[in-house]
Amino acid sequence: MKVLSVVGNRPQFIKSGPVSAALRAAGIEEVGVHTGQHWDPELSDVFYEELGLPEPRHRLDLHTADSETMRPSIAAALTQERPDWTLVYGDTNSTLAGAEAAGDAGVPVAHVEAGLRSGDLSMPEEHNRIAVDAMAALLLCPDQRSRDTLLVEGVPGRIDVVGDVMADGCFQLAPIARERSRILAEHGLEPGGYLVATIHRQANVEPERLARIVDGLSRTGECVIFPAHPRTRAVLGETPPNVEVIAPVGYLDMAALVSQARVLVTDSGGLQKEAYWYGVPCVTARPSTEWVDTVELGANVLVDDDPQQLAAAVASARMPEERPALYGDGHAAERVAASLAAHG
Ligand code: UDP
Repeated sequence: MKVLSVVGNRPQFIKSGPVSAALRAAGIEEVGVHTGQHWDPELSDVFYEELGLPEPRHRLDLHTADSETMRPSIAAALTQERPDWTLVYGDTNSTLAGAEAAGDAGVPVAHVEAGLRSGDLSMPEEHNRIAVDAMAALLLCPDQRSRDTLLVEGVPGRIDVVGDVMADGCFQLAPIARERSRILAEHGLEPGGYLVATIHRQANVEPERLARIVDGLSRTGECVIFPAHPRTRAVLGETPPNVEVIAPVGYLDMAALVSQARVLVTDSGGLQKEAYWYGVPCVTARPSTEWVDTVELGANVLVDDDPQQLAAAVASARMPEERPALYGDGHAAERVAASLAAHG
C-alpha cells in the first residue's frame, strides 16, 4: 500500500511525525508532499530535523497560502505516484488543496482531525474543515464528539475514532523536552513563574485586535514569553516591559516552555490541547473553539480580544480537579495506519 501525505505548515509537520513512524512500522509506503505554505526555516525545517521526519519526495516550494495555486502541483505528484490514499491533516489551505487535487485524480482522501467544528464561519479554517470532510472517504476523528458531528452532517465517508495524533508526540516528547531544553534558563524563567503567549490567527493579527490582546498581556503584570509567528511579528509594535517577544521556537523548546508555564494565552488550535495534556490552564483569545471539552471542563477560558477579561481570566486560571483524558491515549497514529490498511 502507498500513501501520499500532503503537509504544508507547522502543525501539520508536527502531526505527521508520529503518523510517518506508524506507517513505516506497519510496512506502508509513504510519499511526502510539502506544499511550502510555511517555508521559513523556523516554521518548517526545524521540525523536520527535530522530529526526524522523512524528507518529502515532492517539495513544491510554492510559498503561498492559496489553495488554487497549490492544486495543480499536488495533482502532478499524484499522477506520478498513483497512491492508494491521499492523507491530509487539519484545516489549512494545504489540506483543502490536497483533498481537491486527490478528488480530481480519483484518489481516495483520508482526513486526520476530521469532524472538528468551532461553529465560527468567519474562520477560513472552518470552511476548510467542512469542505474536506465532505470529500473524504476515510474520516479519522480525535474523539466521539467529532464523530457525532459528522454523523449529523451526514458525510458520505467511513468514520473511525482514532484519537489525536498530536497527543502521541506530546506524551512521547514532553519529558525529553523538559530534560534537554535550555530555553527556561536562557530567558531567566522559573517553572510555574511565567506565562506563554502565542497569537497568529488571521483575525488576531489585524492591528487593533492584536493591540487589545497585547494590552491584556500587559495588564496581567506577569512575566510573559511570546514566541511570535512571522505574520504576528510584522504587525506587533513595541511591547510592554513584562512581555518578551522571541522568534518562533522548535517543538522541544515549545514543549518545555508550555508544559512548565503557569498559564498559556493563545489563539492556536493545537496548543489549547497541548496545554490540557500538560496540565497547564489555557486562556484563548478567540470567540470560539473547536476544542470545546477543554472549555466545558474549566481548563480553558475563551476571552476573545477583551483586555480586561484576558487579564482576569489569567489571574484566576487553574486546572480543574477533575481532568479526564481527552482526545486519545497517545496511540492515535497506530490506529491511523491500521485504518488505512484495513480500508484501502
Ligand atoms: N509550536 C512550536 N513553536 C512555536 C509555536 C508553536 O513548536 O513557536 C507548536 C505547538 O507546540 C503545537 C503547534 O506548533 O504543536 C501548533 O501550531 P500552530 O499554533 O501554528 O497552529 P494551529 O494549531 O493553530 O493550527
